[in-house]
Amino acid sequence: MTTTRFAPSPNGSLHLGHAFSALIGHDLAQARAGRFLLRIEDIDGARSRPELAEEFRVDLAWLGLTFEEVPAQSTRLASYAAAAERLRQMGLLYPCTCTRSHIEALSPRMGAEGLIYPGTCKGATIDPALPAAWRLDVEAALARTGPLTWHDELHGPQTADPREFGDVVLVRKDAPASYHLAATLDDAADGVTLVTRGMDLFAATHVHRLLQALLGLPVPRWHHHALLMDDTGQKLAKRRGSPSLADRRNAGEDGRALAERLRKGAFPAGISLANA
Ligand code: GLU
Repeated sequence: MTTTRFAPSPNGSLHLGHAFSALIGHDLAQARAGRFLLRIEDIDGARSRPELAEEFRVDLAWLGLTFEEVPAQSTRLASYAAAAERLRQMGLLYPCTCTRSHIEALSPRMGAEGLIYPGTCKGATIDPALPAAWRLDVEAALARTGPLTWHDELHGPQTADPREFGDVVLVRKDAPASYHLAATLDDAADGVTLVTRGMDLFAATHVHRLLQALLGLPVPRWHHHALLMDDTGQKLAKRRGSPSLADRRNAGEDGRALAERLRKGAFPAGISLANA
């Protein structure tokens, strides 16, 4: 059975890009008589606004989407800590006390997700008094797993290349897991067989595939859909003030009609699909 998911972070209201993504996950599940899950990704303590979870549920219902909600990430911290401990026991994590400005000052290479960490703390003696993140030793991890592949329904077979990210943080200084670790564990725990999300997370899948291999998790398929862009060619984003779904709903717009238009590719003025 196909199980898809929509996994928003409650750090801002949902916008049209989220509606588009949720519709794709919902409709793919429906077309295959499968399940469509909602998972609130609220590990980002400082930025999470708990009241937004309810807003998201109402938004999805307004669009005419039915979903099954699975437990929010904030209730799963023990599973993240256990997985991090396993990786630590395997000798694949190392503590890192570098700050962002310290890393920037080292002029590292740019990778898929910004600066590639140059490995300064790997093998170094760490001051235990300083807050530490835990990073994955990607070379050691790959030496253990060997080459890995994954499959995207839209983009075909892929060879995992997690080096594009460098030694990613799996346990943050300020949170018990990073997005990569939490989302990978949750997709497995929730029985997700088709990870539906935007192209902005395509490269992250290389890291997720590596984590699956290390932790013995089932390997789903992926469906990374094109992103909606605004008229400046940038992806819609909460921080650029794209109108939220809640604003549209409160203004009396018909959510189901909006969903139908998005399905047909009839986007509001100024909005288009990337590379379409
Ligand atoms: N929580 C992530 C976000 O809101 C999405 C994660 C995912 O779909 O894997 O951007």
